[in-house]
Amino acid sequence: NPVLDVDKIRKDFPVLAQKVHGKPLVYLDNAATTQKPNAVIERVRKFDSEEYGTVRRGAYKMSEGSTRMYEEARQKVADLLGTPDRNEIIFTSGTTQSVNLVAQSYGRKFLNEGDEVIISQIEHHANIVPWQMITEEKGAKLKIIPCNDKGELLMEEYEKLLSTKTKVVAVNHVSNALGTINPIKEIIDLGHKAGAVVLIDGAQSTPHMSLNVRELDCDFYTFSGHKMYGPTGIGGVYGKMDVLKSMPPYVTGGDMIRQVTFEKTTFNEPPSRFEAGTPPISQAIGLAAAIEYMQAVGIDKIAEYEHQLLEYGTRLLENIDGLRIIGTAENKASILSFYHDLVHPHDMVTLVDQDGIAVRGGHHCAQPTMQRFKVPATTRASVSFYNKFEELDVLAESIRKAIKVFS
Ligand code: PMP
Repeated sequence: NPVLDVDKIRKDFPVLAQKVHGKPLVYLDNAATTQKPNAVIERVRKFDSEEYGTVRRGAYKMSEGSTRMYEEARQKVADLLGTPDRNEIIFTSGTTQSVNLVAQSYGRKFLNEGDEVIISQIEHHANIVPWQMITEEKGAKLKIIPCNDKGELLMEEYEKLLSTKTKVVAVNHVSNALGTINPIKEIIDLGHKAGAVVLIDGAQSTPHMSLNVRELDCDFYTFSGHKMYGPTGIGGVYGKMDVLKSMPPYVTGGDMIRQVTFEKTTFNEPPSRFEAGTPPISQAIGLAAAIEYMQAVGIDKIAEYEHQLLEYGTRLLENIDGLRIIGTAENKASILSFYHDLVHPHDMVTLVDQDGIAVRGGHHCAQPTMQRFKVPATTRASVSFYNKFEELDVLAESIRKAIKVFS
């Protein structure tokens, strides 16, 4: 009895019916970005063709409607992440902007010389560089939680790094280069014990598992709409209301103010304090439709099915001679990263593309992770609930062919 009716699900995603180089498309770059179901495409089309107006300004019907739908989208995100207060959800363009917001707003106000920010060895550049910039500027230090050869964070090393100097801990929930699911509850609780705030980069977890930010008790949780079946240009960050209220604006301008005179400006309460300018309105409406779609499929079912896919794919790749799986944590989601000494990932990607397969080759914006595993790059296949077991067979066969070319 299969967990999901994948043939039926695939009919909801028009892109998946395509042929590439005469072969059925096998889309396995879901960690980079996911495809959109008709429910999202249609919702955005309807909104743009019948309902579109600006938000938070006009008192006329189109604008009132848009504003209501934009705030309903915020509510949908709040439901998904598990907070009853939708004003704890700030819309941004995605995880990159979300981390920059927290680093530039919280970091600028609360970091001082000698303070420390802890991140991990297996972060995306989006959760490294913003912290590097603000710690440098403030004379603070960046500390790194190392990982073992499986790609699991060394918790005893983390505990050693924590001290009264620690002001921020920022780690991903799921590593985009390895697929490791990090023990974030423990990371959050230990961070709090040291008196730090904790940011979780949820770019790779929100598409794959149920969440509850209130139970996790994190201070910030980021996400990207385009990785969870929604449009690009929309994402956000959950923040605890009292923490958000303590933070100054990051980007300034219209919509985020209470009153402006040339002498002084006062700022709005969160979330609008952090949403200067006209936001991505259609994209937020599309994101809400994507969340509804995921919820209708069932997020726990998605997690269970994708786990089966991942296990199946892992077994297939383990049986390929000379192929090294990079990232073999006990707890993983969606990602199969691998390396073969004879085939550079860029060649691998080009060759399997000939068989209609879309995978990513490169450093995955996680160069320190590549350095840790002493590889220049990896090839990464990342699954979604619309992928089929047979597609992983096609991938494995195509990888074997590619290796033969270079042998
Ligand atoms: N963090 C992680 C773990 C990611 O996988 C990504 C996207 N690859 C990002 C941050 C950045 O997200 P975005 O490009 O949507 O801003």
